Amino acid sequence: MERLSIIVPCYNEEATVETFFRAASAVCRELPGVEAEYIFVDDGSSDRTLDIVRGLARKHPGVRWLSFSRNFGKEAAMFAGLEHARGDYMAVMDVDLQDPPELLPELLEAVREGGYDCAAVRRVDRKGEPPIRSWFARQFYKVINKMSRTEIVDGARDFRLMTRQMVDAILRLTEYNRFSKGIFSWVGFRTKWVETVNVERSGGESKWSFFKLLLYALDGIIAFSTAPLAIASVLGLVFCAVAFFAIIFVIVRQLVWGGSAYGWPSLVCIILLVTGIQLFCIGIVGQYLAKTYLEVKGRPIYILREQGGDHERQ
Ligand code: UDP
Ligand code: MG
Repeated sequence: MERLSIIVPCYNEEATVETFFRAASAVCRELPGVEAEYIFVDDGSSDRTLDIVRGLARKHPGVRWLSFSRNFGKEAAMFAGLEHARGDYMAVMDVDLQDPPELLPELLEAVREGGYDCAAVRRVDRKGEPPIRSWFARQFYKVINKMSRTEIVDGARDFRLMTRQMVDAILRLTEYNRFSKGIFSWVGFRTKWVETVNVERSGGESKWSFFKLLLYALDGIIAFSTAPLAIASVLGLVFCAVAFFAIIFVIVRQLVWGGSAYGWPSLVCIILLVTGIQLFCIGIVGQYLAKTYLEVKGRPIYILREQGGDHERQ
């Protein structure tokens, strides 16, 4: 019997964990020739999430849990889950049922019989989402795909089912600044895209504020593209060229007509503009330096406080 590990990051999800487990296990029981293992990763929740997960693990064999020492973020939770999973196939799913478990049979079949290494879910609409957020999301995908050679698919969710081989490749990317949508694509392998419509959360609230998403988007661009650095250099060159011609113009004007001591207000504007651009470019360099600094420190991606469930029995 093959084993399917389902990795579920949970952060303050007391309202949704049980509904998720009920829905997912109903689907997984019907999967032919596959035994499901659940790995709930409690990402430093401050509510009753861990208690509920513990309760599930006591009642149901095949449920395991990991608990972080604090909130490390969904990326870290997914990494921890993948590291601890023992299945032949692994799926990553949100606990809020926005990743419908009903798709699991289709994903599994694509990987098992279709010759794919990964089957991933992509939503084709963004219904129920604030329009501004959707607009920014679309722009983000446009920009990152122009800047990066790694393809980041618009609307791709983190919901996907992968083979052991692909997961092993992902685990070799131990960077601290993780942007999974890029990492999944960077490792390559054959991916089948399954399309779905947007599903609203089953309960509780989204953990992503607009600002958090914006920072995440910037992280993604910096992690998978060095184009902003090139933009900074090109801007620098353009300004040098403009300054060079301006200097020639000023000298010629002085020699031919004389009396060039006017134009202070325009000078102030130009100085402001140029120093602004300089600071902006230094800021871009600083972003990369900061990320490098964090990587060089070599800090662990997550820290476990406790773990339990199925493995205690073995
Ligand atoms: N999540 C997490 N750590 C965090 C934020 C979110 O593990 O710091 C989990 C959350 O419990 C859920 C999944 O990531 O299972 C997706 O989060 P959410 O539904 O809030 O995001 P959205 O669907 O709104 O993008
Ligand atoms: Mg969600």
